[in-house]
Amino acid sequence: MIRLLLSALFPCVVLAPLMFAESASYERDTIKTTAGGVEITFIAHGTLMIVWNDNTIHVDPYGKVADYRALPAADLILITHHHGDHLDPGAIESVSNDKTKIILTEKCAETMKQGIVMKNGDVQHIMGIAVEAVPAYNLVHNRPDGSPFHPKGEGNGYVLTIGKTRIYVAGDTENTPEMKSLRNIDVAFLPMNLPYTMTPEMVADAAKAFKPKILYPYHYGKTDPSRLLDLLKGTKEIEIRVRKME
Ligand code: ZN
Ligand code: ZN
Repeated sequence: MIRLLLSALFPCVVLAPLMFAESASYERDTIKTTAGGVEITFIAHGTLMIVWNDNTIHVDPYGKVADYRALPAADLILITHHHGDHLDPGAIESVSNDKTKIILTEKCAETMKQGIVMKNGDVQHIMGIAVEAVPAYNLVHNRPDGSPFHPKGEGNGYVLTIGKTRIYVAGDTENTPEMKSLRNIDVAFLPMNLPYTMTPEMVADAAKAFKPKILYPYHYGKTDPSRLLDLLKGTKEIEIRVRKME
């Protein structure tokens, strides 16, 4: 009864602890680097939260899969491309404060009217992290009219170098030559959401080429990650970690 009364008077105050309880239930991994631990929270779909050195980075925050008011505010937001499940202005607002920096693509900036635009190949140094934008595009998966879901040049993947550790979040892409020529990647997030991104075979092909030490399939939708485990069974140098990232 008291709770009901309070929630009528102060809905945010009373609900906040419940939402934090929910946020505490996400899976998290800590990656060791020469510059201290990097904690990765697996939110869902194509969205991750990365915390290092008291800095919080949100990648593609998406309000349909999480309540961003209940998650720590972002020091940095990385947006890979303008599709609605990656560029969500409402989620960006919920997780931003007046110090938040946003890195995005040219097309995203048309919607957001703010942020630091990075083109494929650009490098920015922010909060002691080198952020490199790498191409993210389709090679074979097209719309019915023959145009790619993700045309070359529009979307970014990002390689974050923290200390000597390199973390690659691929965005919506296939196994492009640029991906396959990446080197010294410690942690890679590769998408398997079909038909928009990669089949497990394409992910395995890319992984065998650039050999990330740890591979997380992410943004995998209804694709079964166990197929990827089968395909890479003999590739002992790559540790595959499956988390809830449908
Ligand atoms: Zn997309
Ligand atoms: Zn997507």
